[in-house]
Amino acid sequence: MAVLVIAEHDDRDLKRATRQAVSAAGRLGGDVHLLVLGSGVDVVAQAAAKVAGVSQVKVVDDPSLAHQLAEAVAAQVVAQAAGYSHVVAAATAHGRDFMPRVAALLDVAQISDVTGIDAPDTFRRPIYAGNAIATVQSADPVKVLTVRGTSFDEAPADGGSAAVVKEAAVPVDGPQATFVGRESAGNERPELTAATVIVAGGRGLGSAEKFHEVLEPLADKLNAALGASRAAVDAGYAPNDWQVGQTGKIVAPQLYIAAGISGAIQHLAGMKDSRIIVAINKDAEAPIFGVADYGLVADLFEAVPALTAKL
Ligand code: FAD
Repeated sequence: MAVLVIAEHDDRDLKRATRQAVSAAGRLGGDVHLLVLGSGVDVVAQAAAKVAGVSQVKVVDDPSLAHQLAEAVAAQVVAQAAGYSHVVAAATAHGRDFMPRVAALLDVAQISDVTGIDAPDTFRRPIYAGNAIATVQSADPVKVLTVRGTSFDEAPADGGSAAVVKEAAVPVDGPQATFVGRESAGNERPELTAATVIVAGGRGLGSAEKFHEVLEPLADKLNAALGASRAAVDAGYAPNDWQVGQTGKIVAPQLYIAAGISGAIQHLAGMKDSRIIVAINKDAEAPIFGVADYGLVADLFEAVPALTAKL
């Protein structure tokens, strides 16, 4: 039995989520192979070969994979999947884009957001916004899984010495999507899902100006990513991709500071696995205090600047 993990990268660096997926794959038993898809990805393949626990790296280096569009990626994954018991990817935006296509092309059910592995065919995954955990058993000949990085320690980046095998790209019939352009927010802060510290704000901030004026200095001091509740995003205080929660990003940093966030279940679904949660809210009854390790009942417009000044 061997497990094929699909590497996530930006043509230069292997994403941390890949090493978390490798660690999950290691719990399935059998060899772990890493598949690197892209164009001009030698450096990624070299990094992949060093990841502890990986016994083989397969590389499909082809101009058709330059922008890793889901259609192209899915076709190559399916071509490489023969003989594997499991195909695994991180449950990131990228993984969620191409893996359902892989499952459909293989005519099997996808098992999404896996947070625990009980047996090679039995997995745990959250449902109802994380309020219940379903145990799912799959009888499919090949299991297609996306795994939630926050639930698995990452495999060490060094220590492995896997063989690198180059594979030819299979021709893809008439892709429907073509790459037009990429707009990047140019955020200099750590990426939300990879950040060690997150400072998040909610509707309690009151305006976009206050959101930035109050939270940015604290985030600067802590080298933190900024996050937001959906109410803050909907009100235009923060951009969409800062949203944490059921319909936003799932995060589990070492430290999550929630200011002016009530703690609705849909928000908690995205951050309650954080190692230490600090909540600042003027309402002592706010549900966020139910998951907080440290709770401060205070006006955030006083407490956050005071905390920043102390730091
Ligand atoms: P509120 O609930 O309005 O809370 C604001 C808080 O700020 C209050 O607790 C208040 O006491 C406090 N406050 C106000 N002023 C101050 C002050 N000066 N100092 C200190 N505290 C202050 N939400 C998400 O966040 N992420 C999601 O992914 C998400 N997905 C959803 C999916 C669905 C299908 C649905 C139905 C909802 C979803 N929501 C999500 C919305 C969620 O239900 C809540 O509406 C939202 O999280 C509330 O955001 P909030 O805590 O910022 O606002």
